[in-house]
Amino acid sequence: MQSRIRIFVTLTVLTILALAIPGFHSRVEAQTTWYWLSNPTSAATPNYYYDLDRNVGALRDWTGWEGSQDTSGHTYDQHRGTDYPVASGSNIYASQAGVVEDVVNYAGNTCDLACNCDTATNLWGTYVLVSHSNHGGDNQTYYTRYAHLTVNSAQVSRNSVLGWNGYIAKSGNTGASCGSHLHWSVESPLSNPVDPFNLDMVCGNYGDPLCSTSPGR
Ligand SMILES: [Zn+2]
Repeated sequence: MQSRIRIFVTLTVLTILALAIPGFHSRVEAQTTWYWLSNPTSAATPNYYYDLDRNVGALRDWTGWEGSQDTSGHTYDQHRGTDYPVASGSNIYASQAGVVEDVVNYAGNTCDLACNCDTATNLWGTYVLVSHSNHGGDNQTYYTRYAHLTVNSAQVSRNSVLGWNGYIAKSGNTGASCGSHLHWSVESPLSNPVDPFNLDMVCGNYGDPLCSTSPGR
């Protein structure tokens, strides 16, 4: 009984210390959180989320919405990222601190007026790929990809070190894109996009004040 009380007191003291040390909480949050991709004061709501249903013709997004047709505000079939409807030329910022792995420039657009896109010729257009090692403390490296950017607009180059909210490039409409938007994906391992919302990565425990302007809540 005595030792149980001692353990309880020790844990309580440690908890109080952890909460009292300035920055402790935010440092922990910063490791596990995908802060929103842009300046939180200028948030845009996604128009398409990640499609959680891998079956062709079946759609499901992280909010629980399900359907068989593309519906604005949810997802489209086989979508492996999150689309933000931002005007071409908008500044795009890093959603988490990381290192630039690749900057690829492509000036063209592979879609016709009916939005039939030649994804084999080019998918991402101009894009920047950023790595985030040991994100969330799970020893896994995650990648964020910022696609359909304006050609030659990148403010970074390979091996550039980015802080959260570091300026990456300007949005655009390059590659397989039917209109100006940002396609943002979180991948782990590389080229395996995951759902950042379901993984509790956008807002950590969803209690962060920055997330009051985040999509979907
Ligand atoms: Zn997309």
